[in-house]
Amino acid sequence: MTNVDNKVFPSAKLGVEEEFLPSEGTYVENGEVRGSLFGKVFIDKERYKANVIPFQKRKLGIKRYDKVIGEIINVGRSSSRINIKYINNKPIIPDLSAIMHISDTSKEYVSSLDDLYAVGDIIRATVIDAKTIPIQLETKSNDGGVIFTLCEKCGEEVEKVRRDLLECSNCEHIQKRKTAIDYGNVNIVAEF
Ligand SMILES: [Zn+2]
Repeated sequence: MTNVDNKVFPSAKLGVEEEFLPSEGTYVENGEVRGSLFGKVFIDKERYKANVIPFQKRKLGIKRYDKVIGEIINVGRSSSRINIKYINNKPIIPDLSAIMHISDTSKEYVSSLDDLYAVGDIIRATVIDAKTIPIQLETKSNDGGVIFTLCEKCGEEVEKVRRDLLECSNCEHIQKRKTAIDYGNVNIVAEF
């Protein structure tokens, strides 16, 4: 196997179908072989195969059912983006990008993600698929959901007053969040 030693972004052109067969981490579009993820390109010249090997999952060994802690960086219509900062209480640098689809956020029906999460929330989630990039998360279990957030009006601390309802200690604003069962009692002890 020839190591080309090239880092590529998703959809980077690796060659044309006449040169290589698409293999792991690649796809074909209009006769062109492209990478489907962020990783390192390996071209196997003997078998005429192009592969893209993802970096992150190799280094971190993240797998299904792992518990992660991360920050919500985007809330969209059907999914939210999360930057993972801890895997099983081990801090990771740099952050690892993850996504959570609306159907994986709660056991109950969710009509809008804005009722559950907002940008800046720190959440605990479970990995449902670590083989994809970004990694896919869910917060359906009791320990899943927001473990830390601030008042969206004044930025002060908020307390859990009822399940999934948080009240500001300063301005009494009430905000809705999918909260983890131990919200307010979370003590992250980083393991190295
Ligand atoms: Zn407030």
